Amino acid sequence: MAKSRSLGGIVLLALAASGCGLASATPQQQDTRVPADPTRIEFVDPAAVAGLAPRTVSGDDPVTRRVRISYPELDDAAPLNEKLRADARRRLREFRETARGVSRPELNVDWRLAAVGDAIGVRLRAGRSHGTGWDHATTTFWYDTNTRRAMDSTGLLNGSPALHEVARLVKAGLGDRGPEVDHGQVTPSRDRFDSMAFNAEGDLVVEFDDCELGPCSLGRLAVAVPADQAWPLLSDTGRRAQRAARLAGQQVAEPPAAAPSPTPAAASNRAGTVDCTEAKCIALTFEDGPGPETGRLLDTLREAGARATFFAVGSNAAREPGLLRRMSAEGHLVGNHSYAHRDLARLPSSKIADSLARTEDVVTATIGRRPTLVRAPYGSVSTELRDVAREQGLTLVGADLETFDWRDRDSAEIADRVVERAHRGAIVRLHDTRDTTVTAIPDILERLAGKGYTFVTVPELYGTAGMQAGRLYESGISPGRKQPLT
Ligand code: ZN
Repeated sequence: MAKSRSLGGIVLLALAASGCGLASATPQQQDTRVPADPTRIEFVDPAAVAGLAPRTVSGDDPVTRRVRISYPELDDAAPLNEKLRADARRRLREFRETARGVSRPELNVDWRLAAVGDAIGVRLRAGRSHGTGWDHATTTFWYDTNTRRAMDSTGLLNGSPALHEVARLVKAGLGDRGPEVDHGQVTPSRDRFDSMAFNAEGDLVVEFDDCELGPCSLGRLAVAVPADQAWPLLSDTGRRAQRAARLAGQQVAEPPAAAPSPTPAAASNRAGTVDCTEAKCIALTFEDGPGPETGRLLDTLREAGARATFFAVGSNAAREPGLLRRMSAEGHLVGNHSYAHRDLARLPSSKIADSLARTEDVVTATIGRRPTLVRAPYGSVSTELRDVAREQGLTLVGADLETFDWRDRDSAEIADRVVERAHRGAIVRLHDTRDTTVTAIPDILERLAGKGYTFVTVPELYGTAGMQAGRLYESGISPGRKQPLT
């Protein structure tokens, strides 16, 4: 981590590319204020924001299969929601146009709240892979709750002269970053200055994308313009945003709330009461959530007294602690589906370990129970992933009943496919982020129950034989065999 201070009082920090491969700091890192890092944006915990719902746009064809674009929707912020939706659609469209013919192209967009109050900032961080390595780009949109206007980052500034002045200050700040930084690229344009926010002191943090100002090896380049220099250049919205960031920075972080004692499950039977060597067991698994459809799904499962296994994405789990607690309290099992849903098989061991451990920490802090199961995003399992899973005491879970619910958005078709292919001991892969999937569940539960199936969590399929860390389990009982695989 290199740091330098220029004569203009602007501080620049460049993180090595390898140091910021995943979206954000761990909760522990967030709690530790590092005075020497002025480009650390003051983020807000979205779980503390009322009326916020995470949304995910994902692809539905072979080219866009590894696209996952997340963004928040906020109550009473329709213009911002529309801007974020339009941005997600544009990204998906552009990806579809440019990713054809590329081997396993991937796009992963995650978000954080840069400020909440009179001004709300949503910072999107996009990671994109064209087959070799990753490029990262940040974009921050702003919403002024007074004027009800949504805007790009340049809306924080008081018009074109202010943008020119910020560009000049940023260039000065880049002065001692060496000859590799191309100052000519620091043009005072809306695109170049598309990601600006504030740190806890109110300094204006200007971020640039990987490879935007020079070779990709430079990694993240960001410049903090001191608060007093920035202030005269800010628009009214910019000043409100600066104030919101300062206020957020002053708030003392509260210790995470202890997981509440589970409310009695209304109908779900409890784990450990079913012997799958006797009963005709099937394990429904839901991945990618929790999301906006998860509550409805939990209602359905509770009404039917069915248990399932939820493979939660860590970043979603951090934003929906209430849904995670409901899963646990209502008899379901929560597993790990990585922190940001990247293809783990393409990441080095250190990144895999970080992604899994962060998710373990979020889930454990929320429900008081450490997940022991992991499902790889896109079902993509590498030797490194197996090794890391073993080291972290995690068992890999695949599936032997593919519903293709990510591709076929037709509830009746999904239900028919599950019911026709169901077999004793099957592990069924579903997505609780898909409304068509969640709509299909009542029909699936009713028809399978009519055929004598009992709905259990994945470990129950293996009974007393248990599951081993680092091993991949794809089916409780293979078709044609009567005994569970051990
Ligand atoms: Zn997934």
